[in-house]
Amino acid sequence: MKNKEVADLLERMGTLLEIKGEVVFKTRAYFKAAENIANLSEDIELIRRENRLEEIPGIGKTLAEKITQYLDTGRMAAYEKLIEEIPESLLEVVSVPSIGPKKARLFFETLKIKSLEDLRRAAEGGRLQGLVGIQEKTIENILRGIRVVRQGQERMNLGTAAEIAGVFISALEDLPEVKRIAAAGSLRRGCETVRDIDILVDSAKPQAVMEAFVRLPQVKIVNAHGETKSSILTPENVQVDLRVVGSESFGAALLYFTGSKSFNIKLRQLAIKKGMKVSEYGIFAVREESEERLAGKTEEECFKALGLPSIPPELREEIGEEELWGVFCTGRPRPLPIFIEPKDIQGDLHVHSTWSDGHNTIAQMVEAAQKRGYQYLAVSDHSAHLKVAGGVSAEDLKKKKREIDALNEKLKDFRVLFGTEVEIDTEGNLDYNKKVLSEFDIVIASIHSGFEQGPERLTRRLVKTCQNRYVHGIAHPTGVHIGKREPYAFDFQEVCRAAVDNNVFLEINAFPVRLDLNSSNVYYARRQGVKFAINTDAHRIEHLDYMKFGVSIARRGWAKKEDVLNTRSLKELMKAVQKH
Ligand SMILES: [Zn+2]
Ligand SMILES: [Zn+2]
Repeated sequence: MKNKEVADLLERMGTLLEIKGEVVFKTRAYFKAAENIANLSEDIELIRRENRLEEIPGIGKTLAEKITQYLDTGRMAAYEKLIEEIPESLLEVVSVPSIGPKKARLFFETLKIKSLEDLRRAAEGGRLQGLVGIQEKTIENILRGIRVVRQGQERMNLGTAAEIAGVFISALEDLPEVKRIAAAGSLRRGCETVRDIDILVDSAKPQAVMEAFVRLPQVKIVNAHGETKSSILTPENVQVDLRVVGSESFGAALLYFTGSKSFNIKLRQLAIKKGMKVSEYGIFAVREESEERLAGKTEEECFKALGLPSIPPELREEIGEEELWGVFCTGRPRPLPIFIEPKDIQGDLHVHSTWSDGHNTIAQMVEAAQKRGYQYLAVSDHSAHLKVAGGVSAEDLKKKKREIDALNEKLKDFRVLFGTEVEIDTEGNLDYNKKVLSEFDIVIASIHSGFEQGPERLTRRLVKTCQNRYVHGIAHPTGVHIGKREPYAFDFQEVCRAAVDNNVFLEINAFPVRLDLNSSNVYYARRQGVKFAINTDAHRIEHLDYMKFGVSIARRGWAKKEDVLNTRSLKELMKAVQKH
């Protein structure tokens, strides 16, 4: 399917036209068309073959011709002409949060800035000063923005990493030569961002596995092709390393290549104390003249040989390191707590529907939630003033409520909750009045604007929101957008305190570009007594599957089932969010 490819191209074209200074209705036509194509469930190549492109909403004759040309020849003349005038690398420049199309054009026209690197040099060299609308603070923001974008180019989010690794694993796992296969590294530890992907295979025939790997259609470039290790680049320029080890070492290798570095050091030190040696080949007892293999087949066996319980990959981090090793290094090691697992989740409290900017109807979202074994789903659409996301007016809320009531009449053992993701304005007031807010089953509040206010005002906005007697939770509390935006500056400690005092949960948003709270936030907040909800912020049914990423983040923050409200039954949940 080339739907995504075509949608991306039109989106890029729209942005470049914006930089060029083209009129809004023209640029918007490209964005709209891109969005509609991305949302198609049908293959665009099939639509093209049947000459039905113009049936797609927002696609007229001219655009249909351009798409046809692209699908038939792999090129679009209009796009190629445009990038002769407006360099494609300017797309990088507008990906910096504080830089819109107008600024990008200004920089390009006055200073010939064409790329992120040009921009960095100009900003650091003081050449942006004196341009219209550029202040010292703007330049700081630009430099910070460049760093965030760079990090985003170097490290993908957990969702992307899991998807790419999944493709390779499912392509290899059915080979007769492959006995076991697993992803290792930061992906296995559930890190928010991942640099490259490590896959480990248990096989007695490494050569056959290597051959199959480097020949997969997902391989763009083979960087190394060895007997037991190969390294490739995917079309997205992601590096995937594959290693093959024998059965007797698979567990030790998995332990070793899962890391983290800091965890491996601790493990090695512990082994030395016990007269043992840990390596990627196994756990060995060190005798005067020889070494005896104690373990290596499985990770559990390795941990056991070292006198440790199986430490979940998510815990093998610097976060919580002291707590972790404190458990083992005292005279009598205590068992580890039992951490939350995906199967504990009973429902999702933050999903969108067609009432705001979601792609699916409430009924479709509910059906998908039931398929995932949930007991409840809160449909928490945006509030009236978030116009860009089709916020629901107070008038439409009545209709939405009736739709939910009617659904609940029919449903058995499942409850649709009337929810909202209500906007926190720049002063910390909410977008609906008390009367409207009191009608909802679940109210989660969030910030989508005014990120630059500075710590004092942002903290006050969030604290005031916690104090609002109608608010049950705060969604994506830090506002981070991986690869695009850093968390906004505020006093997290104070917000945690306000959340605890007012019985407000903090969300662990599982959407892969958010993962907000992150693992360190969770680790800290949990120790302050904060309760959490892990929500997907799904805008279409497939997004409900993001739940597992949120659960990984919770585990990395040492959260147990009790710490997370949406592990509870509906009755217990409603009791827990009740205001004192
Ligand atoms: Zn939101
Ligand atoms: Zn949302």
